[in-house]
Amino acid sequence: MIDKEELKDKLREQIARTEEKIKGYESMSAPVSPDDAIGRVSRMDAINNKSVAEAALRQAKDKLSRMKHMLATIDDDPNFGSCKRCGKPIPPLRIILMPESPYCVRCA
Ligand SMILES: [Zn+2]
Repeated sequence: MIDKEELKDKLREQIARTEEKIKGYESMSAPVSPDDAIGRVSRMDAINNKSVAEAALRQAKDKLSRMKHMLATIDDDPNFGSCKRCGKPIPPLRIILMPESPYCVRCA
């Protein structure tokens, strides 16, 4: 059995961090005004940074919703966090970082 409380703590921590990141990306991906007196090259930079920030924002939002879902369903599954092959507990950080993998490091 894994320590679900420990995992939940880690999840909450990651969720808070991801929400912070999302705020940052949101301010970076604000529309680039054509009236900004930043010159053509800086404007290109701004547009470039904006699309990078938008991609990062999408990823972070995706991750956030997966983590929230995990936190909400963690208690519903008695085998949550156990490797589907060997049954050993999967380290909490691996679960959070690779929620799509149902195996421990050795079995993956
Ligand atoms: Zn395993």
